[in-house]
Amino acid sequence: MKKEFEKVWESCLEIIKDNVNAQSFKTWFDPVKPIRLQTNVLTIQVPSQFFYEWLEEHYVALLKKVVRKELGAEGRLEYSIVMENIYGVKPYTVRMPASNKKEVRNPSMNMPIDIKGGGIRNPFIIPGLKQPIVQSNLNPDYSFENFVEGDCNRLARSAGYAVANKPGETSFNPLLIYGITGLGKTHLAHAIGIEIKKRNPEKQALYVPSEKFTNQFIDAIQNNNTNDFVNFYQMIDVLIIDDVHFFSGKEKTQDVFFHVFNHLQQNKKQIVMTSDRAPVDLQGIEQRLLSRFKWGLAADLQAPDLETRIAILEKKAYADGIEMPRDVIEYIAYSITSNVRELEGALISLLAQASLNKKTLNIDLARQMIDKFVRNTAKEVSIDYIQKVVCDYFNMGIDLLKSKTRKREVVQARQIAMYFSKQLTKSSLATIGMHCGGKDHATVLHACRTVNNLMDTDKKFRHYIQELDKKINLA
Ligand code: ADP
Ligand code: MG
Repeated sequence: MKKEFEKVWESCLEIIKDNVNAQSFKTWFDPVKPIRLQTNVLTIQVPSQFFYEWLEEHYVALLKKVVRKELGAEGRLEYSIVMENIYGVKPYTVRMPASNKKEVRNPSMNMPIDIKGGGIRNPFIIPGLKQPIVQSNLNPDYSFENFVEGDCNRLARSAGYAVANKPGETSFNPLLIYGITGLGKTHLAHAIGIEIKKRNPEKQALYVPSEKFTNQFIDAIQNNNTNDFVNFYQMIDVLIIDDVHFFSGKEKTQDVFFHVFNHLQQNKKQIVMTSDRAPVDLQGIEQRLLSRFKWGLAADLQAPDLETRIAILEKKAYADGIEMPRDVIEYIAYSITSNVRELEGALISLLAQASLNKKTLNIDLARQMIDKFVRNTAKEVSIDYIQKVVCDYFNMGIDLLKSKTRKREVVQARQIAMYFSKQLTKSSLATIGMHCGGKDHATVLHACRTVNNLMDTDKKFRHYIQELDKKINLA
């Protein structure tokens, strides 16, 4: 059963939703929790001081209106702010009436920061601030907004988003994002940090590559200030540590990381890590660390599927203000399948080619360029691409080609796709069959024979094949 205050807030949200855009709603209203209703006063809990001020600054009129609508002319709103002191878990709750900023006190403002070892020597700290805020080292380009969601990254992305919403409070702690190079681990790791800082600027969030962590630690040993090092890391609220496979074989660094890790975890601080492989495959990492990595969630990133590749290219082109012909985008997306970094690389080279040599950005240029670009990465035409070209040529949906239908035109197109797949890819007959409507290897073999026969006997058919051959073959 929903409590009265929950129902009231829900009705408020209904109206608010219609009056603010989806992104703002998600950012500013999703994290709000109603906590009580007492004689016309609805109390909502917000995650931070900043949050409260933002709501008051930007949404006070709307909030007043909806609260009065729900609770009558006497209706009022109160905020409860949950504050996290930077030492650990001691929460503060500050109550205040809406629209009365003078009463706002932020208890953590007055807290001196006590770091042992005579001041903070860590280079991350911006000196001279009353409450030193760690320089987060976050790259603003690597935001959630710029991260294209697809089947290949859905789990990792949603887990990351959940963590960003409630750092340290979800069961995804630590969150380990893993996958081979170029799939977006670093991007996603930054996105979490950026989102957290956006919502809670007072949180100490820090992005650090494992290599840098290691080097800092070595410096700290040499300068005799490992205490400072440890203290610094232990006061972080959100530690984002990239490429932890780098720790492999480095026992001392693992040791110190183990202590930092434990401290943060015990204090409900969020830890986000990335790695180029799953925890079980991480060799050279101590068992006690590995077992802790498994406490939270390990989410993998897969190579991007076709739709995601197209979406990423479109987004990048759009962000750069470039009009990319659709067929060029598709061509790149079909040709480069391994990872996002290469996809981006191809796009950039193509743009450079076009602008430096004042050439028109079209499919021919894309072909020449990709051919060069991809030769190094042992490219072969993909079955998917062949199917696409064949389907485009016969003006037929690719679903139809992959279906079980026995309609003549479809059967023929399917056979042609099989024929080219056999000729131009290294895929086995069985694999080709699987991609073309779940046929077995004998069917593929039969298709190849049929196409060969028809080429000998049917002039029109031969013309099809020659044209298609040109379209599929790059040069
Ligand atoms: P990794 O750390 O896994 O090696 P990166 O995070 O450095 O990979 O990603 C490589 C490049 O690809 C970056 O420029 C990043 O912005 C981009 N990228 C990766 N995944 C996506 C995605 N889903 N949407 C948009 N850009 C992406
Ligand atoms: Mg990376």
